[in-house]
Amino acid sequence: KADAKIAIVGSGLIGQFWAMIFAAGEYRVTIFDIYPEQVTKALENIKATLSRYESEGCLRGNSSAADQAALVTGCNDLGECLKGASYVQECVPESVELKQKVFEQMDPFITEEMVVATSSSCICVSQFVGNLKHKHRTLVAHPVNPPYFIPLVEIVPGPWTPVEVTAKARALLEQVGQSPVTLSREVAGFALNRIQYSIINECWNMYKDGLLTAEDIDRVMTDGLGPRYAFIGPLETMHLNADGIVDYCKRYAQGAYNVCSTFKPPPILYDVPTAEQMLQEIQKTIPVEKVPERRRWRDERLSALAALKKRI
Ligand code: NAD
Repeated sequence: KADAKIAIVGSGLIGQFWAMIFAAGEYRVTIFDIYPEQVTKALENIKATLSRYESEGCLRGNSSAADQAALVTGCNDLGECLKGASYVQECVPESVELKQKVFEQMDPFITEEMVVATSSSCICVSQFVGNLKHKHRTLVAHPVNPPYFIPLVEIVPGPWTPVEVTAKARALLEQVGQSPVTLSREVAGFALNRIQYSIINECWNMYKDGLLTAEDIDRVMTDGLGPRYAFIGPLETMHLNADGIVDYCKRYAQGAYNVCSTFKPPPILYDVPTAEQMLQEIQKTIPVEKVPERRRWRDERLSALAALKKRI
């Protein structure tokens, strides 16, 4: 492992997180970016962030922040970045055209031992690797922001990705402390966003219907479903809330069906007047200019939750 190398292509927010996660797992990490000055900035940011995590007690891995930072190097040549890597994580902006271009540029350097993952949030890998020689070595490994504290990674194979490649990615991600799930095939939104959008849809419709304030809708999650879901998922919840999941269905299916039949079709999401109205309300506690501060607040809490989940 000490010699194993990970290549990160694109060194923005997500690329930097991946670099820190693999360095905590004691991998050598090389980051590449189209802008050399961005590589320099990313390396500085990684060093400072690891040092901050160390002083806040939330650094991952068994080595010091300085040792982890020393494992991360920068590179201004894509071929050089991929050379000798066993795993590549692409983290360029979310655009089919750009990802297609970057994967075409990577193709000559991909070997039969490499796994090449895209961090893509929504775009399936088949949308941009169809013409590549090494398309069978590619897949989606979609992290959740901030991946350092939210461990889920969605692995989504392309139609030509063999199970060994998917399994290799999963084993590596587990080994560095992430929590991967594997989809059997491509589907729009993967799993997390399919679930997330169904939640947002209902929140949006309830708000539009004037049923609850924005604050109270969010509280249903933060003080209701959220704490539960941090430990048990919706299916296990059904299992535990009755004498097993079959008993739950017998007891509650009709009630659930009655509720579900009142659901409205998906809203035209983010219609501006409703969004503006929500903004007026949310601004009272979190003005837009305070969003960066609130993000730091979020990360501190997610870090504490991750530590708690490890401890208990
Ligand atoms: P970002 O804009 O912060 O970083 C993208 C980086 O890619 C930049 O440093 C940019 O200079 C670099 N880049 C642009 N063109 C390039 C090229 N041709 N070759 C190499 N590097 C290039 O974006 P991000 O938020 O880190 O997102 C990266 C990917 O991760 C996207 O696909 C995004 O959907 C996905 N993702 C983002 C989040 C999130 O919350 N930000 C969460 C999960 C997944």
